[in-house]
Amino acid sequence: MRILVTGGAGFIGSHLCERLLKQGHDVLCLDNFFTGSKENITHLMDDHRFELIRHDVTQPILLETDRIFNLACPASPIHYQYNPVKTIKTSVMGTIHMLGLAKRVKARILQASTSEVYGDPLVHPQPEDYWGNVNPVGIRSCYDEGKRVAETLMMDYHRQNGVDIRIVRIFNTYGPRMAQHDGRVVSNFIVQALKGEDITVYGDGSQTRSFCYVDDLIEGMLRLMDREGLTGPMNIGNPAETSILEFATRIIDLTGSSSRVVFKPLPSDDPRQRQPDITMAREKLGWAPVTDIDTGLRKTIDYFTRLLTRTG
Ligand code: NAD
Ligand code: UDP
Repeated sequence: MRILVTGGAGFIGSHLCERLLKQGHDVLCLDNFFTGSKENITHLMDDHRFELIRHDVTQPILLETDRIFNLACPASPIHYQYNPVKTIKTSVMGTIHMLGLAKRVKARILQASTSEVYGDPLVHPQPEDYWGNVNPVGIRSCYDEGKRVAETLMMDYHRQNGVDIRIVRIFNTYGPRMAQHDGRVVSNFIVQALKGEDITVYGDGSQTRSFCYVDDLIEGMLRLMDREGLTGPMNIGNPAETSILEFATRIIDLTGSSSRVVFKPLPSDDPRQRQPDITMAREKLGWAPVTDIDTGLRKTIDYFTRLLTRTG
């Protein structure tokens, strides 16, 4: 098949392009390089089935494609808050453009949604039928509400126009090719630990997250895309939950670092807890994560060690 991956030069997108090429597909990687980079996909450039298109999804585009993975959107809070209006445009206009394309060329489309649609959840762990607790006017709203509207658009194009859709709600994912300076907790803590700098825990570190290794996420996304008769939304994530303070200690142990933990102010609307209920993915896809956190973190630490050796 010919498969379009928007946001294909980003962290998750580059892993997805790589897996799709390995499966024998032609891959069109579309990106505006806001948070992605050519380095993430350099190793794919020599493959004649790989094509790179510099384009912004807030503008329409016409392409021939059988499937669309719509991942284009900054994912780290500092990046999506840098230009919040652009973030909403990317989620809303980008999804409209990709849905319009899917409708026109009769492509199946998968939208990368997020656990952020649950906001600061009052139900724990979060099942797909929980509607969430999202602040519509806070500093995270440009991302959370943009992604919620994107889900609405997916469902309405499906009901109104019969577009073949899949919605995946991705929980915190980590692995090689996360951007060094994107401010997310995994990259921040690992880079700080490797450089011997203070580990910056926001708040008292009692807030929780559940981290999924990127290979497991990609496997779940591909199964959802391939399975007939499912639309989602479906959670894909690793239910192993940890507090951020425990997580800092774990990174210090795994890196053998002499860094110490320091506490910084908690950003507003930072969710207190987050853990996916993956019953639906287990039952409908036979999917569950297989990478334990220490194994995944070691691979990620190796990646950042190599990167820092190269870049200093
Ligand atoms: P990322 O920032 O590494 O990748 C996003 C990619 O989209 C980048 O390559 C960026 O340049 C590109 N992009 C941004 N705006 C664009 C635009 N207007 N037009 C074209 N390209 C644009 O982030 P990621 O972690 O790889 O996330 C990929 C997707 O998965 C995002 O949609 C994100 O919301 C979603 N997601 C990620 C996580 C996670 O933990 N990583 C969790 C939930 C959801
Ligand atoms: N966090 C932290 N120190 C950092 C970066 C993040 O304590 O240097 C915290 C952040 O406040 C949040 C959690 O780690 O509670 C996860 O943050 P991230 O930005 O990775 O993802 P999200 O909040 O979107 O889940």
